Amino acid sequence: MIGIVEFFRNLPKKKCVQCGQDMIIEKADCYGNICDECDHPAR
Ligand SMILES: [Zn+2]
Repeated sequence: MIGIVEFFRNLPKKKCVQCGQDMIIEKADCYGNICDECDHPAR
């Protein structure tokens, strides 16, 4: 059985579909394909 950490390490880096910035995997998982900046509620 592969550890969950190994699994995430093998995933490619996600990029924001709006600004093209590299995203942290954990965040990307929560916000889909948009980074924190583009997903800011105040914008
Ligand atoms: Zn972005």
